[in-house]
Amino acid sequence: MDVSVKNIRKEFDRYPALNDVSLDIRSGELIALLGPSGSGKTTLLRLIAGLETPTLGKIYFGAEDASHRTVQERHVGFVFQHYALFRHMTVADNIAFGLTVRPRGERPPKAEIQRRVGELLEMVQLSGLEKRYPNQLSGGQRQRVALARAMAIEPKVLLLDEPFGALDAKVRKELRRWLREFHDRTGHTTVFVTHDQEEALELADRVVVMSQGAIEQVGSSDDVYDRPNSPFVFSFIGDSASLPVTIADNGVYFENEAIGIAPRNGDITSGNGTLFFRPQDVVLVSDPAAPALEGRVSTSRRLAGTRIADIDVGKPGEPHHVEIEVPLDAQAATGTTLRFRPTRWKTFAA
Ligand code: ATP
Repeated sequence: MDVSVKNIRKEFDRYPALNDVSLDIRSGELIALLGPSGSGKTTLLRLIAGLETPTLGKIYFGAEDASHRTVQERHVGFVFQHYALFRHMTVADNIAFGLTVRPRGERPPKAEIQRRVGELLEMVQLSGLEKRYPNQLSGGQRQRVALARAMAIEPKVLLLDEPFGALDAKVRKELRRWLREFHDRTGHTTVFVTHDQEEALELADRVVVMSQGAIEQVGSSDDVYDRPNSPFVFSFIGDSASLPVTIADNGVYFENEAIGIAPRNGDITSGNGTLFFRPQDVVLVSDPAAPALEGRVSTSRRLAGTRIADIDVGKPGEPHHVEIEVPLDAQAATGTTLRFRPTRWKTFAA
């Protein structure tokens, strides 16, 4: 089911939690809403679900304006971070719940419900555990039951709010892979809230990066990581360094020293701006006449195959701190002066 969010504003006591948010979700897509705490991810998910009504704007399910439809009418499935399964019900009864509470005419016969539960258990790879109670399951297994329960009603859209947030890192990683496979098998339109960028980049077909109640960028993992379109996205996703620069005559200057040729993808072609680059996208420069950034190593540490150097560049007294990756054999002891140049960078207007 395609879902379109059009110019949504949502206020809580006049405070705008979302402002003019528009998003087109395609049928069968796995979308991650990614952003820091308070950016509006959960509010957007709840609006799609019908748990909140927009102050302004509309939400379409397919061609239909669903803005004022109830949760039941929208036919969505949910899983939350702390999704409470019914403790007194077995796994099978939990999964069947959404079907058994349907009005008489719409309720499938008992044998059909049993068959569906069996199918769903298989789908979430929990066959054999149907008679267990939630307290006899691991956290990861419980979330898979929650997912099977959300799927039982054959939802048009599956909405997941940090479903693995409460689990430990290893289980989280396993479930992430598992969810991707599950999605590929079932093909449900799925919207997934997370503040974990690794989770979003690994899982999603498209990532929606949110900040302060607005969408900053929508794109594939490669788009948002390799082609961030704002300083916020550049610094929120992956490691990055930034420096104030001036651009003039096709050159980039840091504190009046030329450090390279102005990038073609920059937001500005002249004037003051901020230069962003990733720690791994730099080379050391040995030619003292070549344009480069120069700084003093404040600390350096070894990672598996490389070394990270923390460098203070710029005027002594008011240095800018940047982190760069250098080869393991580079002379990068504390106090050493290093000259380097980003190989990929982007400038944004100041
Ligand atoms: P988190 O990752 O912490 O869950 P989030 O990105 O999901 O954050 P939201 O929960 O959507 O953010 O909240 C967005 C803003 O709206 C926050 O400033 C929050 O305090 C506010 N907000 C959310 N729900 C309500 C509410 N029911 N009443 C008042 N303010 C709310």
